[in-house]
Amino acid sequence: MTTDLDFDRDHLWHPYTSTSKPLPTFAVASARGVRLTLEDGRELVDGMSSWWAAVHGYNHPVLNQAAKEQIDRMAHVMFGGLTHEPAVALGKKLVSLTPEPLQKVFLADSGSVSVEVAIKMALQFWLSQGRTGKDKLLALRNGYHGDTFGAMAACDPVNGMHSLFSGVLAQHYFAPAPQSPFEGPLHAEGVDAVRALLEQHADDIAAVILEPVVQGAGGMRIYSPEYLTAVRELCDEFSVLLIFDEIATGFGRTGKLFALEHAGVCPDILCLGKAITGGYMTLAATLCTDRVAAGICDGEAGVLMHGPTFMGNPLACAVANASIQLLLDCGWQARVAAIEQQLKDEVLPLKQFDSVADTRVLGAIGVMEMKEPVAMEEVQKRFVEQGVWIRPFGKLVYIMPPFVIEPADLSKLTTAMKDLAERS
Ligand code: PMP
Repeated sequence: MTTDLDFDRDHLWHPYTSTSKPLPTFAVASARGVRLTLEDGRELVDGMSSWWAAVHGYNHPVLNQAAKEQIDRMAHVMFGGLTHEPAVALGKKLVSLTPEPLQKVFLADSGSVSVEVAIKMALQFWLSQGRTGKDKLLALRNGYHGDTFGAMAACDPVNGMHSLFSGVLAQHYFAPAPQSPFEGPLHAEGVDAVRALLEQHADDIAAVILEPVVQGAGGMRIYSPEYLTAVRELCDEFSVLLIFDEIATGFGRTGKLFALEHAGVCPDILCLGKAITGGYMTLAATLCTDRVAAGICDGEAGVLMHGPTFMGNPLACAVANASIQLLLDCGWQARVAAIEQQLKDEVLPLKQFDSVADTRVLGAIGVMEMKEPVAMEEVQKRFVEQGVWIRPFGKLVYIMPPFVIEPADLSKLTTAMKDLAERS
């Protein structure tokens, strides 16, 4: 008899997997709070928030209610020529919560698409001014911005998982990954390298794109907010736009509502996604300043050349509104601060183990970087046996739990990390 897991293995692609050498998958029957319940009845404490998204945990009554109410009104309607209350309400929230200059909102379908839109905005902005040569980006080593072609081209060209495609990707400039730690003085070299690239190539560069304060999938690296201030100044000096990709860091994860608040810096274009719907469904947003929007719209095309079918999906917008309101009302700062303290107490000391190269914590993010890549299949299986869901990649074993996690459950996650450090 073919089981569902057999069918899954034989027919379904999972993220970054091989169909000829599939890794085991675990079937989830349901999820509530911070717990995933597997088909076989086992319960796992979730350390991943489904990749930064499920900040309120799973199956939250407020979000369920918002989805149910909206689905009974209208699940979807095209955004071309039509609008609706959930989109307007979400637009108001995003405009009021982000820095004041960001006034225009493009509702995109996913994080990668919001990055595509951000890149398109930057290119169109300069084209509209007759600056035809400004068609490249300056991105950072260890950066990650998504899996679509425009976004891929801005990922680290070597470790960014996309080197295979280098022949067809747009060629951009890359500055070294920021090295200055979150606390402590800014190393001048990192900023000098950005300056040197801008001095040489500003005529070709439309925008600098980076993940503020935390580089996620490209290495889980945490760096100094002062770097953002310096890059903002350089962008102004050299007439280059600044794009912040806060798809992973947005909505409280780093201890501020948006990571840019650590530096008090406003980009020209901002990408948001992931936690925007509390992990319920795919939705993202690209915000830009009036200057960028006017620049685009005053040009020959007269319009921003983008408009996906599911843009502004009402169901996703309604859940996003409920999720953002829930976040604002739930005392998230105190929750994230408590998680951060516990991670500092329980994850940072794991650096003492010989197998561990580094540990780092910011907000509700705890990272253990091993000296060697982890044996994924074996480690994943053991984590599940230990009742936790932690998904390592390469040398990185990291957690970013839902903000509703209780201390005892968080300790289950960090204990599993410690066990791995001890055994490795
Ligand atoms: N930018 C960043 C910083 C991300 O972490 C991700 C997703 N890991 C993306 C963009 C792409 O988002 P999505 O997977 O929703 O397309």
